[in-house]
Amino acid sequence: MLSVDEVERIILNLVKPFDPVIDREILPLAQTLNRILAEDIKSELDFPNWDNSAMDGYALRYADLEDSQDLRLAVAPDQIPAGMAIAKPIIKGQCIRIFTGGMLPVGVDTVIMQEDTERIGDFLQLKVKPAQGEYVRRKGEFITAGTILVKAGTKLGVTEIGALASARCQQVKVYRQPKVAIISTGNELVSLDDSQPLQLGQIIDSNLYALSALVTQAGAIAISFGAVSDRKDELEVVMQKAIASADMVISTGGVSVGDYDYVEELLEKMGADIYVRSVAIKPGKPLTVAALMHSDRGSDRTLYFGVPGNPVSTMMSFWRFIHGAIAKLGGADETNWYPQFMKAITTDDLHSQGRRETYLWGRLIYQKGNPIFQPVKNYSSGDLIGAIGTNALAVMRVNQTYVAAGDEAIVMII
Ligand code: AMP
Ligand code: MG
Repeated sequence: MLSVDEVERIILNLVKPFDPVIDREILPLAQTLNRILAEDIKSELDFPNWDNSAMDGYALRYADLEDSQDLRLAVAPDQIPAGMAIAKPIIKGQCIRIFTGGMLPVGVDTVIMQEDTERIGDFLQLKVKPAQGEYVRRKGEFITAGTILVKAGTKLGVTEIGALASARCQQVKVYRQPKVAIISTGNELVSLDDSQPLQLGQIIDSNLYALSALVTQAGAIAISFGAVSDRKDELEVVMQKAIASADMVISTGGVSVGDYDYVEELLEKMGADIYVRSVAIKPGKPLTVAALMHSDRGSDRTLYFGVPGNPVSTMMSFWRFIHGAIAKLGGADETNWYPQFMKAITTDDLHSQGRRETYLWGRLIYQKGNPIFQPVKNYSSGDLIGAIGTNALAVMRVNQTYVAAGDEAIVMII
């Protein structure tokens, strides 16, 4: 059985990221939130594009203060609001009223904020001596023209979108979203759309919904292939269709050692290379990772994940292994390929048998700024209801069997 770290490495090595030219689309900036940038974007302008004031106050020449004993300057008759270019320089010994974003006149190098002054008629009394250059945003101080503003592979968030807008970037080249096919397997499954009363032994195919949500959250497009019965011939047809139509396939169920677990056998029959059959992780031990050639995709292989059907195990396999694979496939830079871990105080004892890396689900909250982990009451991987509210997983490494309530645990953020 492979370790969690080995499986993570194997999977990421198997993923070939999208091509930045072929696998991209051009979108208006407003539609790019959470999309992955497919090219470096350079700034065509200096930012700021001219020296300007960072405050409402008065602009002055610092050297004039050196000459004045009493920190008193004459006030020029003009004002400089934002958006106005002032052509004439101010005369020596004068300061000028300026507002935030207002362009500094030639020769002026310092701004004193309004609150630190007192206006006495045509004069300004400074209450403190400003430092030279204070409250001035210099031309090119944030970035100079021609430098990279946002790098390819960046997931576009609020700050990036704002910066790209200020750089007049109307259209943005982003990677297309990976298409991820989802297949649920199991004779017991009934579609949520089905209006017939549930028969004894039947359950709703909830994994389809949870997995679709996970895939969407990871920035990809989920394509449902519905619930398939545990019949080899039927399953094979659906698996083949899914492989042909998606960049990645996830099937749930049928990867364990039960008599109806056919996924691996069928993958082998289809000529897939199988890289992972099980992982030393709890929950989520049965995990099939395979790659298959597909005629439509040249030499690029489709990655296939067969994850266990127990609802929390399905999620665990996704959180720990598939999320990063989608990020890499979709062109996101390396900072997006790995889960984030942090430390938090656990409110309850955490136990593990210590044989497999164990993930205990629960809720990460903050109390007076301190991260606190509240584990769920019951860790049954079949208990979706008990998992409601989960936003973090405590990690117990192999051989670690106990973390006492009140002690620090390692927590993976999901
Ligand atoms: P399996 O991995 O196929 O052995 O399934 C393990 C458990 O997960 C069984 O109790 C199944 O009924 C349940 N299960 C399998 N697939 C799903 C699904 N799509 N939605 C909800 N539960 C499922
Ligand atoms: Mg099954």
